[in-house]
Amino acid sequence: MNKSHYIIPVFVPDLGCPHRCVFCNQKKITGLEQVPDNREVNRKIESYLETMPKGDGIVREVAFYGGSFTAVDKDLQKELLKPAYEFMVKGDINSIRVSTRPDAISEDILVLLSGYGVSTVELGVQSMDDEVLWKSGRGHTSRDVLRAAALLRSWGFCMGLQMMIGLPGAAEEADLYTASELTALAPDMVRIYPCLVLKGTHLEEMYFKGEYLPLELGEAVQRCKKLLVMFEKEGINVIRIGLQPSEQINLSGDVIAGPYHPAFRELVESAAARDMLEHLLMVVAGISHAREIVVEVPQQDISVVRGHSAGNVKYLAQKIGLERLITKPNSVLARGSIKVVGIDGQKVCYQMHRTEL
Ligand code: SF4
Repeated sequence: MNKSHYIIPVFVPDLGCPHRCVFCNQKKITGLEQVPDNREVNRKIESYLETMPKGDGIVREVAFYGGSFTAVDKDLQKELLKPAYEFMVKGDINSIRVSTRPDAISEDILVLLSGYGVSTVELGVQSMDDEVLWKSGRGHTSRDVLRAAALLRSWGFCMGLQMMIGLPGAAEEADLYTASELTALAPDMVRIYPCLVLKGTHLEEMYFKGEYLPLELGEAVQRCKKLLVMFEKEGINVIRIGLQPSEQINLSGDVIAGPYHPAFRELVESAAARDMLEHLLMVVAGISHAREIVVEVPQQDISVVRGHSAGNVKYLAQKIGLERLITKPNSVLARGSIKVVGIDGQKVCYQMHRTEL
């Protein structure tokens, strides 16, 4: 999402879930205990609209997150969608999106969603490995994902797919397989979440019984880096990596164990930037020692290239004796690119994008 795209989030915890996935306590994720009614949806949209700009090029979207929106009773779906639809008819919002399970998509459901102006559906796929899905208590298979994606495409919906890494039984190959299967479905956007052990979930019991071992943070970062590169290579927009921190989702809150970090995406992008720096310096430029490197990067990527807590700078200090990494903004470069323009006072020009990793 860019700065001209504004989301009005409506969380619908525990709504319509016919299953209890081992990792999920949707109430904890949304931080809410109550399902909103149409008056609350109305109030929420009104209050967000007061703070949002309006005009040409601005998209204001109502997003129903959490739960399994299309698995609930149709009358309740209509009750929640109606206020959003009315704001859309008045021109106050531009679009509506919902998140749901792959096995809760049918022709009937898509008729209903189209009728209320929903244009984007995000499917919680989590994995395309049926054994992983089974061990995670998802209650659907990869075939449901293929069927739902085909239906969404044939109806012309914008499609988002969410996957989770490090689920029970998911070695790295299973997560890479899931990413390649999702890529083949050509989604408009993807979200990647590392599996966390949250309070009040079945996974918490499995963890304390020694039946589930979460990924280490570094391992999860490396795995997500590979997935980010895979998706971006195919031109697929990765709109989120890692759960958003909230009052509940933090290490002193409901996260019992697992690769949680409040700036998880930054860690992933920094890991990719480190690989690029290493490649450009040691393989392309062929150096094994340098005291000063000058690089140009997009302004928004400067902290990513330096690394969380200057981790990449410290890494290069150890690896090639670097004393100074000078980062200059370059407004022409695409996000995810690095251009090395100076090595120890010598002008050079070595450039790459992380999709070339
Ligand atoms: S389907 Fe989604 S909301 Fe429902 S239990 Fe599973 S992860 Fe949670």
